[in-house]
Amino acid sequence: MLSILRSLVQEVNSARDLKEALDIIVSRVQDAMGTEVCSVYLLDPASNRYILMATQGLYKQSVGVVSLAYSEGLVGLVGSREEPINLEDAPSHPRYRYFPETGEERFRSFLGVPIIHHRRVLGVLVVQQRESSRCFDEGEEAFLVTVSAQLAGVIAHSEATGAISGLSLTGEETWDVCFNGVPGAPGVAIGTGVVVYPAADLDAVPEKPAEDLEHELALFRSSVDSVREDIERVANRLASQLRSEEQALFDVYLRMLGDEALPGEVENRIRENVWAQGALKQVVQQYIRHFEMMDDPYLRERAVDIRDLGRRLLSYLQEGEQETLEYPENTVLVSEELTPAMLGEVPKGRLVGLVSMKGSSNSHVAILARAMGVPTVMGLVDTPVNQLNGRELVVDGFEGQIFASPSTDLRAFYQAIYDEENELIRGLEALRDLPCETTDGHRISLLVNTGLMTDVVRSLTHGAEGIGLYRTEVPFMIKERFPSEQEQREYYREQLEAFAPNPVTMRTLDVGGDKALSYFPIEEENPFLGWRGIRVTLDHPEIFLVQVRAMLKASEGLNNLQIMLPMISNISEVEESLHLIYRVYHEVREEGYDIRMPKVGVMVEIPAAIYQIRELAERVDFLSVGSNDLTQYLLAVDRNNPRVAQLYHSYHPAVLQALVRVAQDAHSVGKPVGICGELAGDPGGALLLMAMGYDSLSMNAASLPKVKSVIRSVDREWAIQLLEDVLLLDSPHVIKSCVDLALRNAGFGRYLRPDRSSAAALVEQAAS
Ligand code: PEP
Ligand code: MG
Repeated sequence: MLSILRSLVQEVNSARDLKEALDIIVSRVQDAMGTEVCSVYLLDPASNRYILMATQGLYKQSVGVVSLAYSEGLVGLVGSREEPINLEDAPSHPRYRYFPETGEERFRSFLGVPIIHHRRVLGVLVVQQRESSRCFDEGEEAFLVTVSAQLAGVIAHSEATGAISGLSLTGEETWDVCFNGVPGAPGVAIGTGVVVYPAADLDAVPEKPAEDLEHELALFRSSVDSVREDIERVANRLASQLRSEEQALFDVYLRMLGDEALPGEVENRIRENVWAQGALKQVVQQYIRHFEMMDDPYLRERAVDIRDLGRRLLSYLQEGEQETLEYPENTVLVSEELTPAMLGEVPKGRLVGLVSMKGSSNSHVAILARAMGVPTVMGLVDTPVNQLNGRELVVDGFEGQIFASPSTDLRAFYQAIYDEENELIRGLEALRDLPCETTDGHRISLLVNTGLMTDVVRSLTHGAEGIGLYRTEVPFMIKERFPSEQEQREYYREQLEAFAPNPVTMRTLDVGGDKALSYFPIEEENPFLGWRGIRVTLDHPEIFLVQVRAMLKASEGLNNLQIMLPMISNISEVEESLHLIYRVYHEVREEGYDIRMPKVGVMVEIPAAIYQIRELAERVDFLSVGSNDLTQYLLAVDRNNPRVAQLYHSYHPAVLQALVRVAQDAHSVGKPVGICGELAGDPGGALLLMAMGYDSLSMNAASLPKVKSVIRSVDREWAIQLLEDVLLLDSPHVIKSCVDLALRNAGFGRYLRPDRSSAAALVEQAAS
């Protein structure tokens, strides 16, 4: 069974479109189960009907013609019950529906299983048999359930690929094709998709027609020549070291590159008007599928060689290509997995939106996007990324959705939101120099989180009172080696100077988890519970000492430096770090630098720290809660995993209780406590944190004006009452609604996500 399943999934995975995928499924399942009929019905979201999309055994002319209402017939019953239905005599069931077009009256036994992906019923997979005595047995039922579960993702993906090309299941033209992900950075962007992909990755090659057929053919032929020369060179070089059987492997490669073989097929595809890279991808994937399905293990292994050959050819085809990537005026950058370096490639002023298939709202690239104020959607798992290139896209960073092929109405709706948001931001500029205090005079410091120099510029224009978190790993991430002490000193000086005399809190290097340095790879099974933050730098004092030395020297004459330690789970980590910081401080002073000992603080982002707040606070000058990680670890929800993103809830009662306790315990030993996680930049979250007594809130620059305007409009007693009310609730969703309602009642409905039900009003407003 397993090997049937494996080859079925592989075959379906490399199908060119939904139709081919479904045809493969029905014919392979029919074969494997030895049944007379196998059919797939898919639920068409536009009509809310199940449409017969593929069949083996029913009349072929009924495909695309027969359809059932959402709860009609046995198919509707399987879909609405979301479980298999196995009947010996289907026509005697009260829900049986007869369609003469299918020729179905000949079949009596029926087994239908739902196809469900991420809780959504996509359709129903059905097998049928003529004899009434033949009831499908338990094993067959289990097999069909397994097939359906394995294929649901592939079907969802192919369905989306069809939709994005502008076709519904029934082949009609579609508009406003929506893909759901998770919000990465708020705001709306309308622009053109530019897909960036890692080099020499066949799977990531986008679909494109050949613009110049002859050019594509010539390009491909020259890449074949180059690969052939490479292989011959390597074979000659190794001739004396290899046995003749091993040498024969190179001959296999060269034979595969013979005109008759792979190159001939790729050229035929190019002639069908596919660009060279796309043609190569299609042919190589077909070969791989073919080899992987072979029974002989030796031949199965040859799939690896084909993949390797494909990669070599692709890298010649791509030579010089990434540099010539064109970024139009309103670029929406799209990638399987966005990296900070990719953002840096887009010319200044052209980047309007970001879309990443992987990651979630708490991934570091999303945090960077919020800092830059670029609307972002993350975790669009089933979206055919390669099809987004060159398309007009609407990015809704509030809801976490993107739309392809927007209709005029939808575009107008989003244009109106975009204009409103800009107007709101302009209105808030007046608040820049006003203090952040409630109507009854309670003051709280509003600080910013930075990483790049652009954040600093934005922060200053938004009236930040200092830096609450400078993520020093950001400049490390955009380099190709560890920055030298002098280079670090220059980065740090920029940040310190920009805000002097206000405090600048620099966190020591926090790599590991999802923050990788290309030149210092950390490969772990479970990186978020592994070698992260202070654990890495204490194991590598040479990195820690150089960094602290650069920070201290950079602070000379400014004396506004504060140092913060990430991922603290033990008192001993604090003591060791303090020991190293004091050592550097004395050494730097001995070198003649006139510096003051900076304040040192720890981040509270591991649950263990919540229970040792007093012990920690007694050893340092301040505490700062990293609510992003604290939420992740308290709720055991990976902050990057879109599958569980709906469980990552900053308003979870356990998170709120922990935050209350941290503030109380820190104050009980007289130490200030701030927060530098994303919750601080959420207007509702900021209100609750202010009520809990946090001394400072550090957030991305884009959020600062909104938070300030909310805090300046309320009195603290009101916020404390709101906090007391929500602490009595047990559901994160109810708490969120309660806080949203309070914000609405206080006149801040505009700061919440726009309500799609007001679409008509906005479109009208835009039209007028
Ligand atoms: C946090 O964990 O809340 C935090 C501010 O740190 P980072 O997001 O950089 O891990
Ligand atoms: Mg953290």
